[in-house]
Amino acid sequence: MMAVLPNDEPAYSIGVDLGGTNLRVAVYSSALECVELITLSTRLQNGPEAVLRDMCEAIASLRLRSKNLGRFAGVGVGTPGPLELPAGVIRNAPNLPGWDGYDIRGHVEAAVGLQIILECDANVAALAEFLLGPAPSYGASSLCMLTLGTGVGSGLVLDGAIWHGEHGMGGEAGHITVDPQGALCGCGNHGCLEQVASATAVRRMFLESAAATADVQLVESMADPGFGAKEIAELARLGHPVAQEVFRRAGRGLGLALASLINTLDLPLFVIGGGLIGAWDLFAPEMAVEVHRRSYVYRIAQTQYESKPARPIRIEPAHLGTASGITGAAALPFQQVRSLVEEAEAVSR
Ligand SMILES: [Zn+2]
Repeated sequence: MMAVLPNDEPAYSIGVDLGGTNLRVAVYSSALECVELITLSTRLQNGPEAVLRDMCEAIASLRLRSKNLGRFAGVGVGTPGPLELPAGVIRNAPNLPGWDGYDIRGHVEAAVGLQIILECDANVAALAEFLLGPAPSYGASSLCMLTLGTGVGSGLVLDGAIWHGEHGMGGEAGHITVDPQGALCGCGNHGCLEQVASATAVRRMFLESAAATADVQLVESMADPGFGAKEIAELARLGHPVAQEVFRRAGRGLGLALASLINTLDLPLFVIGGGLIGAWDLFAPEMAVEVHRRSYVYRIAQTQYESKPARPIRIEPAHLGTASGITGAAALPFQQVRSLVEEAEAVSR
């Protein structure tokens, strides 16, 4: 596991993963190993103040217990997006109702008396995959990550740094249009990638198609709220044609979006994460066909020319699973320390 600090001085950080269901707060060493983890349920029904009180209490108690771990690098917080930066204000987050315009940074910093580094959850997941996933072994200095969960998040790491864009909202690739006449999205657009390649979309598309069938047992099981993408994947593997077509559709949508991203960015590595990658075998073949068909940059990159080193563009499932959010949040303070050290070294040269 790579160290992310420029020297061997013992240090620790605190990472926070604020999700719609779980709130995780953890202490990490500078080698990005988890030392202690607190998992709470996110009390969304009690409003932002109650959730942030839980978060700040956990940060304070972990800080107290970690005093002998060395230098304290800081607190990194990953939140659902869109997150406006540098202000640190949440904008219209579909999974955090009632938080629109909420000043997370101001509230947390006032409560814990520390500066925090705030980042959208998809960006911290991309950072974690960049530091601890396949990127180091491939020598990749950039990657794009798509997270297929309740929605489709995405993050860009370009030349080792998270790409924020002008307003902190760069890399919202989940809202690329892949079907102009498609389903209405929470962002106000129709046919976003999120509406065909998220776990929510897989369930919706299956219900729409399967409701028309005469399979009584299937229609009954669909009424169960626990019937989701995982169950639909099991049906697909048993040969259910409607379930199989739903995953092919998700794969086609992903391939469309990836082809555009590859043509635009020409990055060495694209990582697909989130709960839906449990169905990788069901959607990836169609995704690969679309990428190959639609992206000439991809095709050229995969071709071996005598004048060109072998450096194909890779599209891979994420390595870190559900730990990527908290790990990436904990990595933020170390990344900041490292870039400050690099800046100081550049100035002194
Ligand atoms: Zn959208």
